[in-house]
Amino acid sequence: MQYPKAAGGAERHKMTKANDSYQKLEASYLFAGIARRVQEYTAANPDAKIVRLGIGDVTEPLAPAVVKAMAAAVREQGRRETFRGYGPEQGYAFLREAIAENDYAKRGVKVSPSEIFVSDGAKCDTGNFQELFDRRSTVAVPDPVYPVYVDTNVMAGRTGRQRNGRYGRIVYLDSVRENGFVPEPPSVHADIAYLCFPNNPTGAVATRRQLKKWVDWALREGSVILFDAAYEAFIRTPGVPHSIFEIPGARKCAVEFRSFSKTAGFTGTRCGFTVVPEGLEIEGGDGRPVRLHSMWMRRQTTKFNGCSYVTQRGAEAVYSPEGAAQTKKTIDFYLENARLIREALLRKGYAATGGTDSPYIWTDVGGDSWAFFDKLLREAQVVTTPGAGFGRAGEGFIRISAFNSRANVLEAIRRLEKAL
Ligand code: PLP
Repeated sequence: MQYPKAAGGAERHKMTKANDSYQKLEASYLFAGIARRVQEYTAANPDAKIVRLGIGDVTEPLAPAVVKAMAAAVREQGRRETFRGYGPEQGYAFLREAIAENDYAKRGVKVSPSEIFVSDGAKCDTGNFQELFDRRSTVAVPDPVYPVYVDTNVMAGRTGRQRNGRYGRIVYLDSVRENGFVPEPPSVHADIAYLCFPNNPTGAVATRRQLKKWVDWALREGSVILFDAAYEAFIRTPGVPHSIFEIPGARKCAVEFRSFSKTAGFTGTRCGFTVVPEGLEIEGGDGRPVRLHSMWMRRQTTKFNGCSYVTQRGAEAVYSPEGAAQTKKTIDFYLENARLIREALLRKGYAATGGTDSPYIWTDVGGDSWAFFDKLLREAQVVTTPGAGFGRAGEGFIRISAFNSRANVLEAIRRLEKAL
């Protein structure tokens, strides 16, 4: 290997070494691959009117109650008497209390405001939380999967190299038609298991009985469940759990991630939170129990300086009577989009799940998912997400997102009905 010459012409024999784990990562992140194909298509077809039902970003603006609260907070920040600098790293008490009351106490779930850590979104939290575990911990993930859970563990050096779309040392849990896209706990041990319900990408929700199996497994195995409930607000079916903490025993084995992104259109505004029960313990290096709550507190106070005051006031307003009614209306709107898409696919003879308690419709395309993606792009100018991008078990499916205007959804349906 040739090393570049150092300044002055002397031969340089050493370069700073990279974290080799990054070399194990797949070359292109799923959405970058999609963006490239869409870009290539639009370059060749500049007049094409693309309808994007791919990336799961919201399209509807913030609720008026949220905007009003944020505007008031900006004015506070503009006056000496009410100006606030650094806030508490864990989040302001006003927001943590609103979350504990509205998201949990009202559903009969006991979560204390001190167990809530406000952040700038669930991507960071679901990505960062793995830092608290030993590098040799084994990780179980559903397949297909939200890529952040896997890639952050790869970066941390917790996996082997990738072969045939799967990293060594990860326990993959196939979420397939046969199990209704809700995997059973593995028969082998895993220290950490990521679960996500309502699921991205499959749109599946887990019943109380299914989640109880997972909690019982984690308690038996001494494992931790990292439960991503970013799409909780889309649950409408009575009896479907909104939180892992609705399951007895979960406070001893689970952490929950939530986000205002899809709940209240905060993808660009940024706010989420993580619930770490006070009593949840893992084993420290000396064999003694350590509290995940203390560790996450230490991690956040060291590496995170809080979500902005203005944003937290906006998030608080999501729980006001007007804010709650307005955000519910927006979610109902997306759910109606989802229903329209799903029914159009069913009419065309495609099996589709999700789209009832979820903004995603997971469609069985019966073949190569990138080829189907290309077909829809070429013949309908509709962008979807190929299931293979979410994992090996996602092959044969595409994810269609209901986040769009009604006019675009109806246009996409019209074109899909022609193309399929
Ligand atoms: N978790 C899941 C399952 C998601 O699909 C997403 C976003 O698409 C996130 C977390 C990230 O949410 P946030 O915008 O709060 O970072």
